[in-house]
Amino acid sequence: MVVDDSLDARLLLERMLADAGYEPIYQAQGAEEAFALLATTTDVDAVLLDAVMPDMDGMEACRRIKAAYPDLAVIIVTALAGAADLDHAFAAGANDYIAKPLRQVELLARVRAAVRLKHEMEARADLAHRLEAANRDLERLSGEDALTGLANRRHFDAVLAAEWRRGARNADALAAIMVDIDFFKAFNDHHGHVRGDDALRDVAAILRSAVSRPADLVARYGGEEFVLLLPDTEVDGAGQVAERLRADVEALGIPHPRSRAAPRLTISLGVAGAQPDLEATPGTLIAAADQALYWAKRSGRNCVRRWQGDVPILAKKSERTHAQSGGRRRRSRHM
Ligand code: GH3
Ligand code: MG
Ligand code: MG
Repeated sequence: MVVDDSLDARLLLERMLADAGYEPIYQAQGAEEAFALLATTTDVDAVLLDAVMPDMDGMEACRRIKAAYPDLAVIIVTALAGAADLDHAFAAGANDYIAKPLRQVELLARVRAAVRLKHEMEARADLAHRLEAANRDLERLSGEDALTGLANRRHFDAVLAAEWRRGARNADALAAIMVDIDFFKAFNDHHGHVRGDDALRDVAAILRSAVSRPADLVARYGGEEFVLLLPDTEVDGAGQVAERLRADVEALGIPHPRSRAAPRLTISLGVAGAQPDLEATPGTLIAAADQALYWAKRSGRNCVRRWQGDVPILAKKSERTHAQSGGRRRRSRHM
């Protein structure tokens, strides 16, 4: 796109570019017309911008174009090639400049370089995008959560189903602990997401180091929620593990001035145990642990609560949906 208030200058630039095979070539008399054209076209790679125009200074136009279209190459065409002018042009975000009077060789060399740079940037962005998608697929398939290195939700669900069947076959108990960081939204708001992610890794490390049996599984259940699955473990034992986790996370002493539970980062935990039964689904165990976690939040956080009662554990498949949705819906309410 050629932006110049002089018709002669526009025609000259157009001819030089057309000679080299560039098309289409859009023409604008000033900044306003250029913005209007840019808003309705998608095939502009580079803008040749006259430095001095009556309606808007070329530098100001450049700044606005780069703000709205950061990937577009802008080349300032100027008769004012003093050091200060060039400084202004680059400060305004110009990718390059060409001095008047124009020479075709120079013009084409600079336009070619600018267009190539833009295409390379686009290719790089596209590659980064595809890499990200591939990494996401890989994470899902590998069963590992990328941030913490713990098992991810998909892996957890598969293990839970297998352990449930195994528990039913061998008449072994199965326990689960749901963990949720207290006031973590406020932690992120206060310290920023980078430190939030660090804290998630710290909590993950504590959880991982707290379980020792080979069959035990620690997973990242969702954003700042974790779950532990403890096969062949009674609810009393799981309660002891949970209390140790709570104390260990508090002992990390990660400052959390905006928590209403303690001046440090803390977690709330819900514990449930079950005798797996093929008439029920493993979701009932998780719903019970989730319900207990809800009570821990209600009891002031930074504490452990056990599922009191046996209904969700013994619930048959027909009752399961109710127990599960009730638990999650109620817990998500803020207190
Ligand atoms: P509560 O004590 O009731 O659990 O309060 P909360 O603020 O922890 O609860 P809520 O579920 O409203 O907020 C969870 C927050 O966790 C939202 C988001 O800021 C943060 N979070 C979730 N996933 C991530 C993550 O991957 N990284 C970071 N840094 N923060 C996350
Ligand atoms: Mg939380
Ligand atoms: Mg949460």
